[in-house]
Parts: sequence; structure tokens; C-alpha cells
Amino acid sequence: MIRQKSFDSDAAKVYLVPTPIGNLNEMTSRALEILAKVDYIAAEDTRNTKKLLMHYQINTPLLSAHEHNQEKSIPMLCDLVAQGKSIAVVSDAGYPLVSDPGQHLVEQLIAQEVPVISVSGANAAINALVASGLSCYHYLFYGFLDSKSSKRKKELEGLKAFPYTLIFYEAPHRIAATCQDLLTVFGDRQMVLARELTKLHEEYIRGTISEILSVCDSLKGEMVLIVEGNKEENVFDMDAAITKVLALSETMKLKEACKQVAQEYHASKNELYQEALKRRG
Ligand code: SAM
Repeated sequence: MIRQKSFDSDAAKVYLVPTPIGNLNEMTSRALEILAKVDYIAAEDTRNTKKLLMHYQINTPLLSAHEHNQEKSIPMLCDLVAQGKSIAVVSDAGYPLVSDPGQHLVEQLIAQEVPVISVSGANAAINALVASGLSCYHYLFYGFLDSKSSKRKKELEGLKAFPYTLIFYEAPHRIAATCQDLLTVFGDRQMVLARELTKLHEEYIRGTISEILSVCDSLKGEMVLIVEGNKEENVFDMDAAITKVLALSETMKLKEACKQVAQEYHASKNELYQEALKRRG
């Protein structure tokens, strides 16, 4: 167990600072104050962050820290913290670590008991969710699905029964293919496509997956997909089905038990059989 009292000591700290997802004014005064006072800013792309810093007249030195240089950048940042230097970590937009670099760095800093402090700010998923009109009581942020349709459909199969709102990030050139896969795997649920959030051409398209699929090709810019959770009451429950199969298999052949339960649950007898074999060990 590691307890972090963020502001109890003078030890060097690392701040995770969100940056605007479009509208440059979406920086809190605390975030700006931290960017100005730290010794270094570790940025996903120093050229991008430089533009933000110039806008706010902040002169803190920038260091490059992204997925492709992390073998060097993480030890370098840990060394600087050990020397008493405080650091702000930023990505190109929104929160670092949220579909952006920073995960391994934060894990290592925490292991070294460095105070890691998050600062409030912009995030595309939450902006899209709260204005979507779909339920915000419970939700799952998934981020990017796989870029290959076969893998993407497998991921969606795993999410199909989930009863709460789902949030995906997607690149504009894959939006039609992803909506097509959503339709194939989930059926025609309600969804919202939120694009260009906080920018001049911000748009929310609220409708069914098939309606949104029909306009996808004409859409440009950055996009978040918010998809309604599974509302069917009799969602297939693999655990319950397998429990029944295993109970029945004490008095009949496993294949026969699978056939019987598959009929009752409108499920695949082969899938049940494979799963039952796995669980019987
Ligand atoms: N770290 C960011 C965050 O906290 O939201 C996410 C970065 S991820 C690399 C980029 C993806 O976020 C885009 O492909 C898009 O799905 C979503 N995104 C970022 N800015 C957006 C915006 N202004 N409008 C809609 N989606 C946006």
C-alpha cells in the first residue's frame, strides 16, 4: 500500500495537466499556474504544446515524452524528479493517459512514491457524454476500438451485453466502418456522434446507429461515439447457462446437456460446449 498526501511535503511533484480539445480558452487558471511554475513540461509533441504556451506567454522548458521515446524519456523524467525538479505532463489534447501517452511514466513514478497529482480540465469523452442525452448514471469509456474490422467486431461482441452507455473514440476515416460493425454486432441501438467539440463546427448527431451510418461518409473532424447500453431484459448470461450445463451433465452426456441449455437460452450449443470443457478443466 502506498499513501500519497499530495501537498504535505516539499518533495518534487508531477502534475498531469489536461490541455484544450479545441477551444484554447478551456484552460483553468490552476492549470496555467502549474504550467508556469513547474521546472519542466513533458509533452507528447513539443511543437504542439509550444503553440499553447506561446498563447499563454508561458516560458517553461519543454521535454519530449511520447510512446516512441519512453525507454529514454521515462528514466530521464524520474531522474529529474529525484533531483527535486517538478514536472507537468501534457498530451496534445485533453488528459494525458486517456487514449494518450503517460501510463508507464505514472506507474513508475507511483512505484517510486513520487506525488502524482491530476489537474481538472478538458476531456472529449465526458463533454460528449454529458450532452449526448444518453444515460450518464453508469457508463464505460472504451477509447479506440481496433483498426481491423475482424478484431473490432470481437471487441464489440465482448461489449454487446453491457447494459450501460459505451463511449468510443474514433478517427474520421474509420467512422463508417466502425458504425457498420456497431450495427452488425449490437443491432440498431440509439447512439450519438459528437464531433469537433468546443470548436466552431461542433455538432451532435443523435439517432439510431443506422441513421448515423447513412450520413457518416460526409463527416469530418474529431469524433466521439456514445452508444446506448444493452436494453434487452434477457441478456444471455454465460455463467448461468454453464452452471446449468454442468449440473445437467451429472446425469447426461455433456453434449446433450449443451444442446438442451442452448435451446432454452437461444445460444450456440458449440460455444456452450467449448466453454463447459474449459471450465471443467
Ligand atoms: N486525451 C484526449 C482526451 O482526454 O479526450 C483524447 C486523445 S485521443 C488521441 C484523440 C481522440 O479524442 C480523437 O480521435 C477523438 O475521438 C477524441 N477527440 C479529441 N478532441 C475532440 C474534439 N474536439 N471533438 C470530438 N472528439 C475529440
